[in-house]
Amino acid sequence: MFLFTEFHNKSVGLTIKPKNVYSIFTKYQKLTFLETEDFGKVLVLDDLVQLTERDEFIYHEMISHVAINTFPRKIEKVLIIGGGDGGTAREVLKYDFIKEIHLVEIDKEVIEIAKKHMPFTAKAFEDKRLKVFIEDGRNFVRNTQNKYDVVLVDCSDPIGPSKVLFEKDFYQDCFKILKEDGIFVTQSESPFYSLDIIKDIIKNLKISFPIVKLYTANIPTYPAGYWSFTLASKVYDPLKVDMEKLKDNIKRKDLKYYNEEIHFSSFALPSYVKERLKEVLS
Ligand code: SAM
Repeated sequence: MFLFTEFHNKSVGLTIKPKNVYSIFTKYQKLTFLETEDFGKVLVLDDLVQLTERDEFIYHEMISHVAINTFPRKIEKVLIIGGGDGGTAREVLKYDFIKEIHLVEIDKEVIEIAKKHMPFTAKAFEDKRLKVFIEDGRNFVRNTQNKYDVVLVDCSDPIGPSKVLFEKDFYQDCFKILKEDGIFVTQSESPFYSLDIIKDIIKNLKISFPIVKLYTANIPTYPAGYWSFTLASKVYDPLKVDMEKLKDNIKRKDLKYYNEEIHFSSFALPSYVKERLKEVLS
């Protein structure tokens, strides 16, 4: 009996007993696709779970809707770095006022496996508003002349090809390609296991952005079931939005995790997290 285990540190991890396993080495990473009894289809990169059919909605709703609903205006143009499974794009496309999404994914094999086996996220690729670029997001952001309302960094963990997406100069280049009231969000790892990484992310984003806030979500198949996102904003504060307007904005969006209360409560942090981040969160 084959068991897949993702180790969160030297001795503790998540083990899954798959029905089927498919694994290849792409040009950039080890790509594993599992079919499982309890969590459906699972995408794994470099032995780290990226998404499961059963709980991907949490991550994809939380990386997308918080930023979009922080604007007092209807936004038009979004850049997604990574996100080759299509889940984040699927959530952004739920807003009719979004005119254009650019998705920059370094590894075309991820998109191909998603289109073949994960229609629940990859259906986004059928939408005419979505334009896909197969290249390193680091280079794209350095060279593009485009301006975006929102940049979402839907990357894997800071090992392998995603490492460059956690660096200071990448954040500074993202600041430059955002419009004058733009908002940036990156997935920022587990507050239980990776507070040092989160501290660096916040510190580096604060060099450019006046508003930087951490928010979290409960994602069962991520380390400790507790995950974070870091939002950096040029103008708008996510905690100063009109709840009624937000509620109206998200009506009929088929959301299963994000809602008007979660928008605010996701920014509440436990004391041990606030304590460890106090010098960067002040
Ligand atoms: N959406 C997934 C989830 O639910 O957590 C997470 C991430 S998605 C699978 C991460 C993607 O980032 C992968 O497809 C990976 O190939 C891509 N990626 C990693 N480094 C990249 C880079 N430098 N530029 C563009 N894409 C990158």
